Amino acid sequence: MRALQYDRFGGPLAVIEAPEPILEAGGAIVEVTRTGLCRSDWHGWQGHDSDTVLPCIPGHEFTGVVRAAPDLPGLVGARVVVPFVMACGRCRDCGAGAGQVCRAQRQPGFTDPGSFAERVAVPNAAVNLVPLPDSVRDDAAAALGCRMATSWRALTAVAGLQAGERVLVLGAGGVGLAAIQIARAMGAEVTAADISAEALRIAESLGAEPIQLTDGMGGEEIAGVVRGRHTDGVDISLDALGSPELAAAGILALRRRGRHVQVGLLADGWASLPAGRIIAHELAVLGSHGMAAGDYPPLLAAVAAGRLDPAGLVTEILTLAQAAEALPHMAQPDAPRGVRLIDPRL
Ligand SMILES: [Zn+2]
Ligand SMILES: [Zn+2]
Repeated sequence: MRALQYDRFGGPLAVIEAPEPILEAGGAIVEVTRTGLCRSDWHGWQGHDSDTVLPCIPGHEFTGVVRAAPDLPGLVGARVVVPFVMACGRCRDCGAGAGQVCRAQRQPGFTDPGSFAERVAVPNAAVNLVPLPDSVRDDAAAALGCRMATSWRALTAVAGLQAGERVLVLGAGGVGLAAIQIARAMGAEVTAADISAEALRIAESLGAEPIQLTDGMGGEEIAGVVRGRHTDGVDISLDALGSPELAAAGILALRRRGRHVQVGLLADGWASLPAGRIIAHELAVLGSHGMAAGDYPPLLAAVAAGRLDPAGLVTEILTLAQAAEALPHMAQPDAPRGVRLIDPRL
């Protein structure tokens, strides 16, 4: 089958003829119809994720059709989505419904061959295959597999967002734009900060108040701009990008007893965590990591009902060869914004 692969971190990406994925006991093979190009793929390619196995076929946010599932014959032919954290279904966390932090988790595109390929293997199919309603089409499904599911869980289950609250979204990439759409749908007032004017235009079209960041702005300066608009601070901040400055800005922009959710990977760690503020203002600093398969139904229902429109965030459908060109440039400030998907059949 055709797949996109790299052999070393930061090395060239090439479309190759790869071996067919291996069907494990209890697993499934999914024929990929759409797969998202995500900043996490760039982090993996850079070698920021110590679990990434070489050579690597990236890709972790996919939808497709089940072609083989010996233990679940009824699902063959079904359209599915798969959480990027593929859970074991047997450990204590999985037992508690928290497969997104499964201790035996596997991730396509990192620990396992990913979905920038015609077909992909999914372990523990009974746990990790989420059948899709007909009304949730391929573009929507691929766009929600990682980024919208992550934002949904971060804002609802982790931050406990309530209607009428003020939400600050830092970084208006895929996760950030999804967070804006979700927060607005839940009746929140949203402010979005980004360095890209293009990203802010999309954020504004989704109902966010834009804040234009400039190169070199620190956490205190960004938080100062937010407080210029919300004197008491925001109820919830979400760092969707993962930078020390944005994470600090998120914490410093909170009202007393506010909640900061860290979703973006802080590859370089925290530059300076405003610890004094966290203690004195009783701030909650929360991590959020994907979403378990069992938590997808309310999100899928919101998409099916038209309350959320993940397909509306999609700006481009790429071929595998185009993705090989696009992936290395994802972290550049002028990289195209919005959600880009790949159709490996093209
Ligand atoms: Zn992703
Ligand atoms: Zn587990």
